Amino acid sequence: MAKDKKKTSKLDSVASLCKRRGFIFQTSEIYGGLNGFWDYGPMGSQLKKNIRDAWWQDIVVKNENVVGLDASIIMHPRVWEASGHIGGFSDPMVDCRECKKRFKADNLCEEQGQELIQDGKKFQLPEGIKCASCGSDDLTEPRSFDLMFKTFVGPVEDDSAVAYLRPETAQGIFAQFSNVLATSRQKLPFGIGQIGKAFRNEINPRNYTFRSREFEQMELEFFIKPGTDEEWHKYWVQKRLSWYESVGLPLSSLELDEHPKEKLAHYASACTDVAYAFPFGVQELEGIAARGNFDLSRHQEFSGKSMEYFDQETNERYIPHVVEPSAGVDRIALAILCEAYTEEWIPKGGEGEVIKVEDADLGKRAPEGYEARTVLKFVPKIAPVKVAVFPLLKNKPELVEKAREIFEELQEYWPCFWDVAGAIGRRYRRQDEIGTPFGVTIDFDTLEDNTVTIRYRDTMKQERISCDELLPFLMKKIR
Ligand code: ATP
Repeated sequence: MAKDKKKTSKLDSVASLCKRRGFIFQTSEIYGGLNGFWDYGPMGSQLKKNIRDAWWQDIVVKNENVVGLDASIIMHPRVWEASGHIGGFSDPMVDCRECKKRFKADNLCEEQGQELIQDGKKFQLPEGIKCASCGSDDLTEPRSFDLMFKTFVGPVEDDSAVAYLRPETAQGIFAQFSNVLATSRQKLPFGIGQIGKAFRNEINPRNYTFRSREFEQMELEFFIKPGTDEEWHKYWVQKRLSWYESVGLPLSSLELDEHPKEKLAHYASACTDVAYAFPFGVQELEGIAARGNFDLSRHQEFSGKSMEYFDQETNERYIPHVVEPSAGVDRIALAILCEAYTEEWIPKGGEGEVIKVEDADLGKRAPEGYEARTVLKFVPKIAPVKVAVFPLLKNKPELVEKAREIFEELQEYWPCFWDVAGAIGRRYRRQDEIGTPFGVTIDFDTLEDNTVTIRYRDTMKQERISCDELLPFLMKKIR
């Protein structure tokens, strides 16, 4: 129990900082919010952009056999019949008759160390499952709940106008497979990457942004020759792990969860989840699946259009197989925030050791002789703001002018922060809380010898550097 309390408190600390510093807000907060929907503020929107850019760079830009796509959110409803989502994309739901709370049945069982019993499309709760909210065992039988958001296209709201908000971005890629192949002159193996919004009417959105009803996915469909599935699946698992490390999630914080063969969908030959040790448990960030030719075959069947590939090397015609790394931007952003979130007690006056605050002590007052600092230790390429520029005094026009010159030069390259207000120590702390890796202070010496003070967020060390070296120095560090 005590363990759980400790676990909740780290997520609470992260959420509170995210609100205070403009990372994440409840959507439509002024109207009381809407469960399962979130808005990303000035810092959060830039953080998410950096995550998307890092993925796009690693997956699309740096692989000449991967191309990009930006498909529409609403597609022809037949797409979802072919993919199996219509009528098949649902979660088992149970209600507590006592407190009226609603749960995703598989999660409820898992949290209580059991497994939901499944027989084809029918579900049953194992013995002893209780309501996670009030502890009652008066629960309804699990029943399927459709996760697709429905809408209507055009002015008439009848059955012929029904459409769906996409529950995943992948199907946009499969539906455009032939057009992309014909226009990009790619040969197998090749991939199509896409980033975009997806919508699922989740039964029980929770754990902050982890399970939302509107979220963003980054998906790659990597088309391959049948028979090479295993080797490409392994390749993408390793490649994705290195990417996670590069954005600030060390391997020690990640777990690979390989799905046992008997739990795979009938068409899949492998599926491995990349999971992160969140404060609320180890949970999925990405699924990497070898899906055979299921999706393309289904679209061929439903559309009547060929999805075959002509292999010039072997003179064969076949429907390619696919390996799909499918990641969620919002979950990765939350993992990065949790990983970066640090509280420290630093000795007043600067002498002595900095103490890293343990999770159990987060939010506590610093001991005598120390002061607390909160810092987001983002890797530079993910940090929303890369450099903050501070003229030492705001009422000295010559300092402000020189600082502004430096600020505007750096702004050409990165999001930078201009801060003239308050004591310099307080200005540093504000930047620590949004994770800005570098601070540049312009003082009277700058006017004399053309040097500035550069301050490092993590060590708080400071050094003088010539203004002429500043840009190349930061270029190297931020890359
Ligand atoms: P879960 O089992 O947690 O519901 P899933 O296995 O259904 O996830 P996929 O369909 O494989 O998820 O989607 C790929 C990725 O999209 C997930 O790994 C996750 O990062 C993201 N994702 C899926 N559902 C949500 C959601 N409701 N909120 C935020 N991200 C999501």
